[in-house]
Amino acid sequence: MSEPTIEITGVRKKFGEVDVLRGVDLSVERGEVVVLMGPSGSGKTTLVRCMNLLEEPDAGRVRICDCAFDCGGPRDRSARRLAQRARRRTGMVFQQFNLFPHMTALGNVIEGPRQVRRLPAAEAVALGERLLARVGLADKRDEYPSRLSGGQKQRVAIARALAMEPEVVLFDEPTSALDPELHAEVLDVIQELAGEGMTMVIVTHETHFAREVADRIVFMDGGVIVEEAAPDAFFTRPAQERARSFLRLVE
Ligand code: ADP
Repeated sequence: MSEPTIEITGVRKKFGEVDVLRGVDLSVERGEVVVLMGPSGSGKTTLVRCMNLLEEPDAGRVRICDCAFDCGGPRDRSARRLAQRARRRTGMVFQQFNLFPHMTALGNVIEGPRQVRRLPAAEAVALGERLLARVGLADKRDEYPSRLSGGQKQRVAIARALAMEPEVVLFDEPTSALDPELHAEVLDVIQELAGEGMTMVIVTHETHFAREVADRIVFMDGGVIVEEAAPDAFFTRPAQERARSFLRLVE
């Protein structure tokens, strides 16, 4: 078996007195699609933010490809640099899109390649156009986010994440801020990426989508992983009562 793209071990995170992650181990293989499910407040967002070190765990280890980061140590310069390198290997798609409002769709997509990857302008533009076409938005390249629908904004955000050529893309409830009729256009793009072999971790409550796209469902509750299973097994015969009662609520 190939080496996992992401491997987190013993990850813990507190906010104040609240234990949000209470020791999480998770590996994601190259090309694997992992869907994270669980009740609100179970720690899913915190876990994906810890996976790319947007949030630094209090303890544990996060390895993204060749970057291994031991958490809880001194935040010195070399630690910060390592975290930055690890973060660059991941793309993140947020609930609220987080597009730069003063930049066009194309501007949003090429900002990372220009500033971080230092691509020459013409090359970045060609890449941006290719990625906007890939998410079905070639004709929106010069629009500002305020003139795009929520579904279009999220597709620009996906193109922006891909522009950094990440090893893995993390999605935090990518459709939860969208009207229901806009969900499909975003989920279709994610499904296509899965078909192309992109490694992904997706937090979502969309059970039908999860069943189709996931190689594995990881179910969290109370800051720990309670159950992991292939989608068919998880949705038809979840082993844990907590997973059963969650599924009764969302399905
Ligand atoms: P989920 O994504 O499963 O809904 P979250 O990871 O968003 O769960 O949150 C888990 C818990 O951590 C919640 O109780 C939430 O209030 C708390 N939490 C998350 N982020 C912060 C933060 N930045 N500061 C304080 N508490 C937080």
